[in-house]
Order: sequence, then C-alpha cells, then structure tokens
Amino acid sequence: MQGKKGVYLMNKKDWKNIFALLGALAGAHTDVLVSLVLLSVLQAVRPFVAVILTGTLVDAVYEGAGMKELFGYAAAGVGGIFLMAAVESVVIMFFNRKLEYMQEIQALPLNKKSMAMDYEYLEDTEIHGKRERIEKFGGWSLMAIVLSMLNKLLVATVTVVMAVFVVFPMFIRSNHAVSKGFIGSWLMAVLFLAVILLLVWAEFKAGGYFNGKVAMVRKQISGHEARSKYYLDILGGHEKQKDLRICKQQTLYEKEFGNIAFHMKKAVDQMAHFNVLDIFTQQSVSALTGFLVYVFAGVLACAGIISIGNVVTYAASILKFTDAVGRMAYLLNRLKRNAVFAGDYVEYMNLSQRKHEGVIPVEKRKDGRFQVEFDHVSFRYPGSETYVLKDLNLKFEIGEKMAIVGKNGSGKTTFIKLLCRLYEVSEGCIKVNGIDIRKYDYEEYCDLFAVVFQDFQVFSFPLGENVASGCEVDTARAEDALERAGMGERYKRLPEGLRTSVGKEFEESGVTFSGGEKQKIAIARAIYKDAPFVIMDEPTAALDPESECEVYAGFDKMVGNKTSIYISHRLASCRFCQDILVFDKGRVVQRGSHEELEHQDGLYRELWEAQAQYYA
Ligand code: ADP
Repeated sequence: MQGKKGVYLMNKKDWKNIFALLGALAGAHTDVLVSLVLLSVLQAVRPFVAVILTGTLVDAVYEGAGMKELFGYAAAGVGGIFLMAAVESVVIMFFNRKLEYMQEIQALPLNKKSMAMDYEYLEDTEIHGKRERIEKFGGWSLMAIVLSMLNKLLVATVTVVMAVFVVFPMFIRSNHAVSKGFIGSWLMAVLFLAVILLLVWAEFKAGGYFNGKVAMVRKQISGHEARSKYYLDILGGHEKQKDLRICKQQTLYEKEFGNIAFHMKKAVDQMAHFNVLDIFTQQSVSALTGFLVYVFAGVLACAGIISIGNVVTYAASILKFTDAVGRMAYLLNRLKRNAVFAGDYVEYMNLSQRKHEGVIPVEKRKDGRFQVEFDHVSFRYPGSETYVLKDLNLKFEIGEKMAIVGKNGSGKTTFIKLLCRLYEVSEGCIKVNGIDIRKYDYEEYCDLFAVVFQDFQVFSFPLGENVASGCEVDTARAEDALERAGMGERYKRLPEGLRTSVGKEFEESGVTFSGGEKQKIAIARAIYKDAPFVIMDEPTAALDPESECEVYAGFDKMVGNKTSIYISHRLASCRFCQDILVFDKGRVVQRGSHEELEHQDGLYRELWEAQAQYYA
C-alpha cells in the first residue's frame, strides 16, 4: 500500500507474506535458502576485500615497504578474492540451476493444489482472480523473482554492515585526534556522519516516493493490461473468433486497441518521468556524498589522523554504503510489489481441503446395495444469500432408475454436486447407508459415482486414457464402453484406435471430435468406471435425435442393475424411469412414475403438456 506520505515501502503484512512464501519454499527447497544466504554474503564481502587490499597496498608503498612485503599483501588479497569468487561461482551455478528448475515446474504445485482444494473454491470468482494474478504477474517466476530480489537485498544489507565495520575505526581515530589537539575533528566527524545519513535517508525516501508513483501508474493501467490479455486470448483461437467475424466486431476491437495503446503510452511516459527523477536524485546524492567523503577523508589524512591508504578504503566503503542504501529503496519497492503476489500464492496454497478429512472406508457390499438419504438438506452457494435447495427430504436405493426433472435453474445439478461432495450442504445432512457422507474417505466415496456432467470435459489425451481416466487402459473394457455409448462405428474408423489423440493441440495426427461424439466419449468414461451409481446430467444435450434415441435405448444395457440418476429438463427423456422427482425452485414438488404424475395436477403435467408438442 501507498504510505501516508506517498512512500511505497514494505509494511508488516508484506514481510509476513514474503516470509510465508519463504516458509513454503523452505519445506521443499531448504538448500536454495542456504545458498541464497551464502551467495549474498560472498557477493557483499568480496568487493570490500579489494577495497581494503588497495588501501593496504597504497599505505605499504607510501611507507616504503619492500617488494616481498608488497607481494605478500597482493598475494593474500588476490588469493582471497579468487577463492571467494570460486566459491561464489559454484554457489551461483547451483542457485541459478535450482531457480531455473523451479520456473520450469512452477505450475505443478499450483495444479496439484487446484486438484486437491475444496471444489467450491474453483467456482469462486475471488479465488479465480487470485490464481490469475499468480499466473499472470508472478506465477511462472514468482519464487525466482522474490529470491533474486532477496539476494540483492541481502547483498545491500551486508554491504551496509561491512561499510560500517570498515569505516568505524575512522571515527574512533578522529575522536583520538581531540587528545592530539585537533579540536574540530570530533565535531566534524559527527557532523559529517549526520550529513551523510541525512542524504542517504533523503535518497531512500525519494526512492520510495518515486517508486510509489510508478506503482500507482502501474495499478491504474492494470485494467487495460487485463483487457489486453483477454483480447489476446479471444483473438488467438479460431473457436472464439467465429462470432467476431460473423458479427463484424473488428471495429469494436480496433477501437479498444486504440484506447489501450493510448493509456499504455501515457503510462509509459509517466513511469519514465518518475524513473528519471529517481535516477537523477540517486546520482545527485551519490555525487554529493562522494564529494563530502573525499573532502572529509582528505582533511583527516592531511591532519595525519588517517593514512593515505585509509582515504581510499574509507571513501570507497562509504560510497558503497550510500549506493547500497539507494538500491535498498528500489529493491524494497520491487519486493513490495511481489509481496502482494506472494500473499496470493500463500493464501491459494493454504486453501482448505476439507473433503479430505473423512476417514471411514466405504462399505464394500457384495449385493452392491446402497441407500441414499437427503435429510433436511438446504444449500446456498458460498457468498450467496439465496437458497438453491430448500429442506430436501428423500431416500433412494441402489438398483433404482431415478429421474430428476424440472425447469432450468431449479437445482437439479446442484443436487448432484452435493451428492458427489463437490460442495458441502449448508444445513441438514446427506447419508449413505445411514452415515453422513462427509465422514467417508473422499477417494473411496468418489469411487461410488460415475457422472457425466452437462458441461462434461474431454481432454487432449489419447482416447483410451480419456475413457479409462488414467494411464492404465483395459483395451477390451474401453472398446466395450465406447460401443455401448454409441461410438462403436466411429471408433472403428479411427486409424490409431485408443491411442488416437483427442484434439490437435499436441498431436498433428489428433482427431477433432464433434460435440456429440465428445459427449459419447464422456458417457463411455462413465460406463468404463463401472461404479454403483451412474449419474447423467442432460446426457443427450449435444446429441442428434438419432443418437439420443440410441442412448435411451441403450440406457438399460449401460447401467444394468446400478442406481441411475438421470437429469433432464426434457420430460420425454425420463419416461422410462420408475421414480421421477420434480424439482421446482429448490424443492421436490412431486414424485412418482410417469403414469402417476401424468394424471396428477401439478408442475409435471404442466411441463409435459407444454413440451409434448415438440416430442409428439
Ligand atoms: P439446474 O441444473 O436445475 O438447471 P442448477 O442446480 O445448475 O440448476 O442451478 C440452480 C441455481 O443455482 C441457479 O439459480 C443457478 O444460477 C445457481 N447456481 C449454480 N451454480 C452456482 C454457483 N457456482 N454459484 C452461485 N450460484 C449458482
């Protein structure tokens, strides 16, 4: 956040985020953190060895030291520098290799988390935004950026400490000068120190101020950047360009591009302006402190308080000090910017995985009988005030063919999501064989269900892996599932059989399947799973009438004696089910067979009569 005085530096929360990120890193990559500290110390200390060596050599020459002595100093100094540089290059090689690797696999921890976190987060727009920010601004290299910044920050900090350590004796000596009769030197030393610290402080603050201004401009254009990315996504894919081309929306986009370009140019100009001011301030402070340092050290040397060699050492050290402080302001600003993403990252990785808390194994029944009970279940989506399901009470047994019908938005899919533990009920409880489903081991519980969702997904993997949902594919079983799902004929025409890639994203030879064919593949996946419950959510929405008939006709064969729950807003599709639940505004308003419901007054008959004309 921008500070009260417009200074943009790290605050407590930012540090907490950065340390939390490091904490997450430490678990998996402790060696990276150790090498970071070692590398930073070496990088900061090595230049001081050169500075001290130069000062010592100047003094030795001035005092008329012999060649042997000079050679000794040079050999010790250069040898030390060489040794440190050698260790440094080994550490840096290790460090960079690790960073590169972490960048390459950066998506893995995020993806693993996405698969493990509570499902509700995946539909949460705030969490979506978080993930997008992590991916866009820091995901691919967040760790690497933060670590390299911390490296520079540590170097600057150690440089400051080293400079104080080297320069401190100068002030001790100038204090001694008082006893030597050089009255003004003590006062001068304090004054000098005060002026230097004041200048450095001003530089630090100015750096924070200008970087804060740059950050503000960046924030102002973030909306344009997001739009730019959105357009990039739309215009990059043939699928999404269909509407654009047919509806001739090009001019709309061109106007938007012009708008984005205008704002970007303005922002770049403003940022350049603040960056120049920042650099100018840094250079001015650097020149002024340089001047003061040399004058002060020169005066002390002339007074005989410090040696000529000391002038070189101290002046260089103080300049390193001011330079390091100047860099700190910049680095703290950059770190702050990334602290926000670090916070997003840590929060994302810490999202709860409640569903994994259940431990009870699911009963392995020989008769395959399961009883499901919805006991006063109510539900509203996270962040929503409206109940989507209200006080639902119902039971059903395995072996039944159940249909859920109702208008769009009446809660049919939500009912299934709750049953499959994608969401937890808000009130009441769902029981399987008398036990609250939250208590079951999640993986085992999932094995009970084979679901084809309305928005089913078929992935760019080989066909066999899509059907088997895994790398191990039982060929005969997969082929049988495809056959039963109505894909038999099409399958025979595929040149590579189950190895055929679905889609052309990764394989030139891949096959682009139609929407209906993809739906059949999803149905085949459910058949292959051979779970006690088969759930089909509008399973024929993407199918042509002929295929729809095929699916209905084959439905009995497909599900055998399993429990099947069949969701549709097309009532004709559900006539063959013995048990039909009619949903309306989150409640079950009717239940019975088609014959029973057809003759009752109520929503079912209303819907049936309204739809009958289309299904005559
Ligand atoms: P159906 O399957 O009967 O068409 P749904 O169960 O999909 O109905 O949706 C029921 C209601 O819940 C709808 O009003 C829908 O807008 C709302 N809804 C669905 N998903 C979400 C969600 N992730 N967040 C908030 N509301 C949702």
